[in-house]
Amino acid sequence: MTATLETDIAIIGTGAGGGTLAYALRDVGARVALLERGDFLPAEDENWSAASVFGDQRYKTSELWRDERGRPFRPSMHYFVGGNTKVYGAALARMRREDFSEYRHEDGLSPAWPITYEDLEPYYTRAEDLYGVHGATGEDPTDPPRSGPYPFPAVADEPVIAALRRRLEAQGLHPYALPLGIDLRDGGLCVRCGTCDGFPCKVNAKSDADIRCVRPALESPNVLLRTGVYVERLITTPNGERVVEAQARTRGGPLRILADAFFVCCGAVNSAALLLRSANPSHPDGLSNSSGLVGRNYMGHVHTAILALGPRRNRTTFQKTLAVNDYYHGDEGWPWPLGTLWLIGKAQAPMLRAAVNRLPNEIAGTLARRSVDWWACSEDIPSPDRGVAVDPDGTLRITWRPTNLESHRRLVRHAKRMLRGAGYPLVLTRLMDVEFNAHQCGTARFGTDARDSVLDPFCRSHDVQNLFVVDSSFFPSSAVLNPVLTIAAQALRVADRFAAA
Ligand SMILES: Cc1cc2nc3c(=O)[nH]c(=O)nc-3n(C[C@H](O)[C@H](O)[C@H](O)COP(=O)(O)OP(=O)(O)OC[C@H]3O[C@@H](n4cnc5c(N)ncnc54)[C@H](O)[C@@H]3O)c2cc1C
Ligand code: SF4
Repeated sequence: MTATLETDIAIIGTGAGGGTLAYALRDVGARVALLERGDFLPAEDENWSAASVFGDQRYKTSELWRDERGRPFRPSMHYFVGGNTKVYGAALARMRREDFSEYRHEDGLSPAWPITYEDLEPYYTRAEDLYGVHGATGEDPTDPPRSGPYPFPAVADEPVIAALRRRLEAQGLHPYALPLGIDLRDGGLCVRCGTCDGFPCKVNAKSDADIRCVRPALESPNVLLRTGVYVERLITTPNGERVVEAQARTRGGPLRILADAFFVCCGAVNSAALLLRSANPSHPDGLSNSSGLVGRNYMGHVHTAILALGPRRNRTTFQKTLAVNDYYHGDEGWPWPLGTLWLIGKAQAPMLRAAVNRLPNEIAGTLARRSVDWWACSEDIPSPDRGVAVDPDGTLRITWRPTNLESHRRLVRHAKRMLRGAGYPLVLTRLMDVEFNAHQCGTARFGTDARDSVLDPFCRSHDVQNLFVVDSSFFPSSAVLNPVLTIAAQALRVADRFAAA
């Protein structure tokens, strides 16, 4: 028998987009139902075990997707209340002002957004408050203007990183404090452990969408959360103008969700897949797909992991405090943007063994003891021939190859030079592939013209009146800094508009 849930607003997915939206809509006087395929991530010792999290991949989905050649891979997806933010590195950066304009790159145009930095600025400020961001102003020359300071001071560097910062400054670079959402305020819950980036937080001190948004939203009598609800399909009126129902699979059997407004917030791949699966005679190519762009323009950033090996042991616990944007807009002799460099969580032997097949334990241990660990990230350029499709057997297929590779290689060369100059003679690097899809975006881009975008500038479908997509799908370009603060800021903006309508 099919059960039915009636509500005013249905939010499908509880990650950065859905969680923030639920928080923002909790008191607008409407019933809000949050529908999440996963469960709450349990607080347990394994949360902070590198062997469990990276070795056994305890929290990563066991679902398999296919790459463009049909090879199966296990994507970097975490299906829990809070979505991928449960394991994210809590770097909460604003995009730069230039990222909102058309910007020429090595491999083509990074398209303009239909909104400006100034449109989003007040919402960035609110998102930083909501996610309790620690940061510092005046250090990074690419910083956009802000209407106020960060809610909390920057997270301090530990001694090895403080020394590295000084050596980078001596090279004329401008290292800056990475804006971070961890509860390190006076009396805060964070114990500054070494298992934050890529791990769940066992003490609920990381500003993920579950802790910061979903749980506070559930304090409102208007908000209901149903976990273990996998939404398979959206059903429209016969003329296709409105969604009337979401059909879901649950452990207890099928569930119909009836609502006045539907917010799809499943992440860029799963949201596109849900719209494509919802094709019907009024929307033969998928819901909200008159532009033909649902699932297209998938972007993922171009990522390289960097291990800089020094002569001495690196005893840093919480390492992810520093970033460098000096190559953001290019370098002398290369007119196109290169990207950004930031420190990541301290590598541990099981993490290296999980990344490099058959790496002997002893070597992994030696590397991890001596390394300072960085990430190089370059912008990925959208293209309609790269995207998400649903194969006939229901498996998701991702067609993606990294773009801007020469710019990215230049960025990595700069990183190597900078780190060697700072006392780390051996620098190892590894380019990430399609499996590392943590920064996926772009599959239902927003814009003002229904012919070349799926959503309007407030993330409402151009085609279906009561359908919204509020997650990283709306990004017309990937920019280069971490996406969550931008997703959260836009979710707050969408909620304001929706509540005012
Ligand atoms: C290891 C790692 C580190 C990262 N570090 C950072 C960082 O430091 N800073 C940063 O900004 N970003 C970081 N990211 C990226 C960041 O986590 C994502 O960009 C962000 O979570 C995307 O938000 P979203 O709302 O688009 O999707 P998600 O957060 O993925 O949320 C989607 C939600 O929808 C649910 N869902 C999916 N399909 C369905 C369905 N059919 N029915 C019901 N529910 C469904 C999922 O379970 C999930 O809860 C990191 C990601 C990873 C994996
Ligand atoms: S560093 Fe703080 S926020 Fe991060 S996992 Fe450890 S306790 Fe949690």
